[in-house]
Amino acid sequence: MTWPLRALGSLLAPPQCVLCDEPGMPGPVDLCHACLADLPRAAPEGSFLADAFELVCCPWSFDFPVDALVRTLKFRGERAHARILGTLLARERWRDAAPLPHRVVPVPLHPARLRQRGFNQAAQLARFAARELALPLDQRALYRPHATREQTALGSVERAANVRHAFAAIRPLQGARVALVDDVVTTGSTVRAAAAALRAAGACAIELWVVARVPLRRVSSLGTGGVRHE
Ligand SMILES: [Zn+2]
Repeated sequence: MTWPLRALGSLLAPPQCVLCDEPGMPGPVDLCHACLADLPRAAPEGSFLADAFELVCCPWSFDFPVDALVRTLKFRGERAHARILGTLLARERWRDAAPLPHRVVPVPLHPARLRQRGFNQAAQLARFAARELALPLDQRALYRPHATREQTALGSVERAANVRHAFAAIRPLQGARVALVDDVVTTGSTVRAAAAALRAAGACAIELWVVARVPLRRVSSLGTGGVRHE
């Protein structure tokens, strides 16, 4: 939407916080300052995924209300939440002084899953994150040649085996600096497999932008129905 149209829209329908219905901030983030400040931050990552990514930007913990925002995006198609979370994710990345990547690549869905759901939530997030930082969005860099089982019911080891060869790059990415985008990270096996496909295609630096991380206490309950988002 162009700026005059957005400004007109704000006059007709003032921004409202999607969490508390108080007046929201102007612009693409429909939250109020208080709710934004209250979003649950992820625990410091330490070395989590440091072997697979140059940089990990994962600002929030997969707890309320971030989990609710992600789930309504993913399962009810609430695309305004992609705009909010994708924009905020980009702003968090902007705080890091490291040079920005050349392109933004979402974790793809298998075509059958895409048909079923109608959209890819990671692609929606990537679109708004790329827009916020004026970076190119490359939705077709990766694809999923094989359908995989739902990760939800699997333990850590099974998850890694399930997605190990799930991804492939469509074309060479020689020398590319890539940001890989996903909604939630649990054990990291999905994004690790996607990064391996990017690296095999020649990407020289891969960073991960993901909205939320499932807290470790719940990762240890995998396979018992304790983590339900994938
Ligand atoms: Zn609020």
